[in-house]
Amino acid sequence: MRKHYLIANWKMNRPPEGADQFVEKIRAAAPEPVTTIVIAPPFPFITQLAASLRGSPVRIGGQSCSTESRGALTGEVSAAMLRDCGATHVLVGHSERRTLFGETNEIVAKKLTAVAEASLVSVLCVGESADVRDRGEVVQFLHEQIAAAAGSLGDSDEIVLAYEPIWAIGTGRNATASVIAETVASIRDAIRASWPERMASSLSVLYGGSVAPENIDSLWSTGAIDGFLVGGASLDSGRFLAILDGMRERKVHAGTRS
Ligand code: PEP
Repeated sequence: MRKHYLIANWKMNRPPEGADQFVEKIRAAAPEPVTTIVIAPPFPFITQLAASLRGSPVRIGGQSCSTESRGALTGEVSAAMLRDCGATHVLVGHSERRTLFGETNEIVAKKLTAVAEASLVSVLCVGESADVRDRGEVVQFLHEQIAAAAGSLGDSDEIVLAYEPIWAIGTGRNATASVIAETVASIRDAIRASWPERMASSLSVLYGGSVAPENIDSLWSTGAIDGFLVGGASLDSGRFLAILDGMRERKVHAGTRS
């Protein structure tokens, strides 16, 4: 069975209730290992939150990392440094990194290698803009993003994929269940075509883009995805835990997925 994930991407924000208080509430909710919860805070919080979560199944992620392992690269952070601070996962190729910081498919591929070399798990983000969708080029665009990652994936690497249409991120306009089901099916085709064979069936594919407690039922009912990457609604522990509850309610149905 594919693993289920719920990932919080705080971006460059702190939860209004406070980072420590947020994490304490998630820890107190005693999440079951059925769903892997990952919190990706800004870098300076990683050590502190990883220490608070020691002994709990909740994981910490980096929001990005350098392509390199060391060097004169002011402002960069290596994957090994994130690991040493307590991170287990790293977001790679988030659309804000691609569009605001010029990360190309080639840079994303190098980051996947850097994360694997540090023995961390990449959460590779892919997704099209509204223009690409309007032009009817979604399948080709996503196939290119996925194929570009292929050369960086070793047979034993662990990786998670997040489908995040850019037009749905932070807009309050989530993709519909049918758009997600159709697009994730083509993502799985692209993976079968270009990634190591074992990944086609075992890879967890998440959805991200304006996920909230209010739409979790319809999004999760698609059965096409294995969890969520959440931005805005991950800054409030109550809303984040409500999303987790929505996933738990469909545990029996989810458990039947292959
Ligand atoms: C994200 O940034 O990965 C994201 C999905 O943001 P939001 O949930 O706010 O759309």
